[in-house]
Amino acid sequence: MNADRPFFSQLKCRECSRLYPKEAIHICEFDFGPLEAAYDYDAIKAAVSREIITRRPQTMWRYREFLPIDGAPTVGTQVGFTPLVRADRLARVLGVEELYIKNDTVNYPTLSFKDRVVSVALSRARELGFKVVACASTGNLANSVAANAAAAGLQSYVLIPADLEQSKVLGSLVYGTNVIAIQGAYDQVNRLCSEIAGKYGWGFVNVNLRPYYAEGSKTMGFEIAEQLGWKLPRHTVVPMASGSLLTKIHKAYKEFIHTGLLDQAPFAVHGAQASGCSPISEAMKKGSEIVKPVPKPDTIVKSLAIGTPADGYYAIRVMKETGGYAEDVTDEEVIAGIKMLAEYSGIFAETAGGVTVACAKKLIESGKIPRNESIVLCITGHGLKTSEAVAGHCGKPRLIKPSLREFEALIAGELSTLNA
Ligand SMILES: *Cc1c(COP(=O)(O)O)cnc(C)c1O
Ligand SMILES: [Zn+2]
Repeated sequence: MNADRPFFSQLKCRECSRLYPKEAIHICEFDFGPLEAAYDYDAIKAAVSREIITRRPQTMWRYREFLPIDGAPTVGTQVGFTPLVRADRLARVLGVEELYIKNDTVNYPTLSFKDRVVSVALSRARELGFKVVACASTGNLANSVAANAAAAGLQSYVLIPADLEQSKVLGSLVYGTNVIAIQGAYDQVNRLCSEIAGKYGWGFVNVNLRPYYAEGSKTMGFEIAEQLGWKLPRHTVVPMASGSLLTKIHKAYKEFIHTGLLDQAPFAVHGAQASGCSPISEAMKKGSEIVKPVPKPDTIVKSLAIGTPADGYYAIRVMKETGGYAEDVTDEEVIAGIKMLAEYSGIFAETAGGVTVACAKKLIESGKIPRNESIVLCITGHGLKTSEAVAGHCGKPRLIKPSLREFEALIAGELSTLNA
């Protein structure tokens, strides 16, 4: 990369714009504002074009000038560039004209969008010389830290609430990481991680490395715009836990406009949560910018169950600024959303995907998303990781002996509909 004039220059406080060196720090000393990566956009504009990006390998690192590392990436070099699928059958049942699924259920290597953030955080952790990396997680982040650390030969500790889905726990343990289950909610896990990070000097991807980690989420937005033919969708619906992904998709769209890769166009970013833990959508619906913590989240959507969302305020600002809305849905609606997505697009999403589909449905039905405008749904994790959420809601196989007669008896009543 360009050593004389680096694209990624410093960290910057989101509140007071004070500049900081690009180290493992995440909070402004003066006002406790979050630190964010700052770039030299003129240098980026001079270095990239649609043609240059298009020629590069199909991974999230094709946008490397917009990512906060100094050298070439060393962790997760294959991550990203997941399919953007035009979903016409799903569009028809939802009663809209132009609908796409950004399908991060097939992100590499751990089947959620968290592989994007971890790729950046661990590449930066190595540049900063960390030997031990760690995270506070609702499941997917732990899976991705464990897998990517294993591949990179870093030691890892992942801290999770004790009540996570089986596949998310196993999906960390299998990599030989240190899984620490905490008897408490995510907020308590996160607070403990802040104490550990301060005391042991480990690289916590979403604590002291958060400014780097968070930037990885932008690549989902970059890809959406490029895959739409270098255009913005009029509406993007994003699931919210801390609210970070939503703010970074917005940042991605703005950066592409700012550097001339996209034409200026109106776009709205909408947020989706589960009603059992919906502090951001509650505030948004009340017209408030004050996010009231949810002390005891109660929902099957564990991946989004963050009661005190770190970026909630900024997510609200983005939704307001772009003319977006927030919605939340019950666990029953989440299950119906998972099934609708599967049956009409062939994509099996985890509970957060059910949230996104069900909230989009509500926003369409209430007229907040007009039926004739383009819509992208961000589907962020794979359904096999949360299979207990839909087990018992999808019917059962019909059991027969290995006999043609039994088979024919079974389908006799269905033949006329099959040939119709
Ligand atoms: C982490 C996560 C999100 C969003 O998280 P933010 O903290 O809001 O960035 C969305 N979906 C899934 C499946 C996740 O694991
Ligand atoms: Zn500050």
